[in-house]
Amino acid sequence: MVSPTSFFGPLDPAPDAGWTEQPQPRKGFFTDTSVCIGCKACEVACKEWNAVPEDGLDLLGMSYDNTGMLGADSWRHVAFIEQPRPLGRGSAPFAGTPTGPSGTDVADAVTAAGVDALADASRIGSAQPGGFPVVDRAAERVREAGGQQFLGMPGTELPGRSAEGVGRSDVRWLMASDVCKHCTHAACLDVCPTGALFRTEFGTVVVQEDVCNGCGYCVSACPYGVIDKREGDGRAWKCTLCYDRIGDGGTPACAKACPTESIQYGDVDELRERAARRVEQLHAAGVEEARLYGHDPHDGVGGDGAFFLLLDEPEVYGLPPDPVVTTRDLGSMWKHAGMAAVGMLGVALAVFAGGGS
Ligand code: SF4
Ligand code: SF4
Repeated sequence: MVSPTSFFGPLDPAPDAGWTEQPQPRKGFFTDTSVCIGCKACEVACKEWNAVPEDGLDLLGMSYDNTGMLGADSWRHVAFIEQPRPLGRGSAPFAGTPTGPSGTDVADAVTAAGVDALADASRIGSAQPGGFPVVDRAAERVREAGGQQFLGMPGTELPGRSAEGVGRSDVRWLMASDVCKHCTHAACLDVCPTGALFRTEFGTVVVQEDVCNGCGYCVSACPYGVIDKREGDGRAWKCTLCYDRIGDGGTPACAKACPTESIQYGDVDELRERAARRVEQLHAAGVEEARLYGHDPHDGVGGDGAFFLLLDEPEVYGLPPDPVVTTRDLGSMWKHAGMAAVGMLGVALAVFAGGGS
C-alpha cells in the first residue's frame, strides 16, 4: 500500500515534498535515442551554461565516446555503442550497395602501413613533430602503402564510391545522451544529512553546493551511479535540469541545443504520452526493438523525471535493467528498529523491577 509519503510507488514528488501552494506541473526530459546523431551539442551546452569544469580531453579508446560516463564534471554523457546488425529495417535502402573496405580490412591496412593511431593522436595540438590530424596522416600513409581509403573516421567519399563488389556490412550505431533521472523517489535526496539535495517545485532534484558537506552518502545511494564528488572540491555535483532556466520559463540548455530534438523537455505527463506515441510509430515502421525506459510510475523508483526511448536492452547503454530506490525499505527498517528498542527497554525495566523485589 503506497502512502503519499512512502519511499516507493507512484506519486507526484513536488506536492509530496511540500510544494502545495501554486502547484506546477512536473517537468522532465524525454530522450528519444532513435534520433540522436551523437553530435554532443548537449554535453557542450550543459558545460557552458552551468560552468561545469573541463574533465580531460583524453582519447579513451572507446570509439567516439571520450566522456566515458556521467560524473561531477559531466552532467550529460553521450554514449556510442557499435553493434554488428542493422537498425530495424533501416539498412533496406542500402541493400546490395557496394561499400568501401570493412573496418577490419582498414585496421589491418593501417597496421600494415605502420601507423600507430594512438601515438599520432597524442601528438595532436602538441609541439611534437607530426602533431597534425591523425586521419590525414593515416590516410596518407595507407594510400602510400596500398591505395585503400582510411575509414577510421568519417571519410570524404560517398559510400559505394571507393570500392567495387564489397558487401555492405550490417553495423548500426546506438547513441544516447544520458543524464540524472530526477527520480520520483530519489535515494540521493533521502540520505542527504545536510539538506543540500532538495526537491524543487518542478519535481526535479537539485544540489545546493553551498550546503553540501561532501559526505558522499548520495553517491553510494543513487541506483544509477549519477551523482559524484568533484576531485579537489569534495562536494557532490550533478544535473540540475537547469533549475535557473526553467524557473524563468526557459528550456534546459541541452534540450535547447539538441539539433534533432532527441532531448525533449516539458511536462512529464505530456512527455509520457508523446513517448508512447513515438514507440508505436517506430514499431509500425519496423523498428520492433524500440522500448521505453524509466517512464513507468510503477517501477522501482516510481518512474523517472528523465526517461528514454531505447533501441536495445538498457544494459547495452550501461543502464541498470531494473533499478530500485535504495532507500525503499527505510521506513520499515526504522519501524523494526523502534520496536526492537521498545522491546529491549521493556526487558531492562522488567529486570530492574525483578532485581528490586
Ligand atoms: S538518485 Fe541518482 S538518478 Fe535519482 S535523482 Fe538522485 S542523482 Fe539523479
Ligand atoms: S542528444 Fe541531441 S545534442 Fe545530444 S548528441 Fe544526440 S543529437 Fe546531439
